[in-house]
Amino acid sequence: MGLRAQVAGGGIAGMAAAASLARHGFETRLHERGSTLRELGAGIYLKENSLRVLDELGVYESLEARAVRLDETRVRTEGGRLVLRRRVAGERLLVALREDLHGHLTEAARAAGADIVTRSRVESADTGGALTLQSGRESERGDLIVGADGLHSRVRTTAGFEGRVQMLGDGATRLLIPRDEPERVSTEHWSGRLRVGVTPCSPDHTYVFLIGPETDERARALPVDVEYWLRAFPYLGHVFERVAAAEGTHHPHALVVCPRWARGRVALVGDAAHAQPPNLGQGAGLAIANAWALATALRDHGDIEPALAAWESANRGLALSVQRWSHRYGLAGHRWPPRLHPLRTATLWTLGHSPYTRRRWALLWRGGVPGSDRHVWNQTGRRA
Ligand code: FAD
Repeated sequence: MGLRAQVAGGGIAGMAAAASLARHGFETRLHERGSTLRELGAGIYLKENSLRVLDELGVYESLEARAVRLDETRVRTEGGRLVLRRRVAGERLLVALREDLHGHLTEAARAAGADIVTRSRVESADTGGALTLQSGRESERGDLIVGADGLHSRVRTTAGFEGRVQMLGDGATRLLIPRDEPERVSTEHWSGRLRVGVTPCSPDHTYVFLIGPETDERARALPVDVEYWLRAFPYLGHVFERVAAAEGTHHPHALVVCPRWARGRVALVGDAAHAQPPNLGQGAGLAIANAWALATALRDHGDIEPALAAWESANRGLALSVQRWSHRYGLAGHRWPPRLHPLRTATLWTLGHSPYTRRRWALLWRGGVPGSDRHVWNQTGRRA
């Protein structure tokens, strides 16, 4: 297209945007403030919405080769009682190592010709297409500026988007442990205000996430307070004996509430636009899908500003809906009154077995890719 794009941020969203834009003919430069390109965390769930983009970028097969394609997902509540079970063997649901996903997106961006610059901190962006770097010493111009600089995005705050960050009161510790789970099953265990997720994510690794209130110091302690967690999940001794030796990272959960994703020549993707708690496993999935959609909208519309408006209008409603349900799910995990936990189990069971919620959750979980049913979202994220 002969146009120039500047991308702020070299996480999953920035790499997906750089790869997608470069593949669609943009002369693309990505600025990452860190000295290396890396991705923190452990494993990551990827669903059909982002896997289609990885197909387009030519990296799906190599990612899948070292990832695990799940057959089933389960939720167990107090005492290990199985309340939800979903066969997913008929759809693509992958759990991969984060560093593999990030590495493949970086390769795809480079192969498409994107220029990736590390130690390049973005200070500010303006809606006319200027990007100021490193305390005002340098600036660059782009026909398009992409803010993919995460939760506390400088692009979002300096280009006049009126977004805000809302901390949610819970958080997750993520770890990788040696794999001892032969089945391709992901299980989430609930007990009181704590949750534990266990899923294989490579031939050698199992991904474990531990979620609890941020006010619970023993729940968020690093190294993991194994004794505390075992008291809540006594039947998970075989998991916690491997957790004891693993190194974890902890992050509080947050929402970004941002009334717009596009202003002038600036677009926001990923957590900068729609950070959300990880309960539906879609933050990165939406980032990848929206980055590709951005590039195709620019291809189809030619002019930048109408293309950004069309892109936002087509994609924002779904993201809001996923964000809203992910938030609600998290509230059920850590805000439900303890004396009513038996009612929570019954509610989960009922919702999980109602054909309507089951279909709707499955659709949001897949990132809006329809199965046999079609849903349309309006701009507020509700079903039209
Ligand atoms: P970030 O990962 O925050 O990347 C931003 C990048 O920009 C960083 O590299 C940073 O160094 C750089 N940067 C920041 N400021 C500047 C600046 N001023 N100049 C230059 N560079 C800058 N999503 C899923 O799809 N599936 C899952 O299973 C899943 N599980 C999750 C589990 C947990 C516990 C959490 C917390 C999240 C999970 N998510 C999941 C969400 C997903 O991890 C995020 O949505 C995604 O990683 C966000 O990527 P990003 O590139 O937008 O932001």
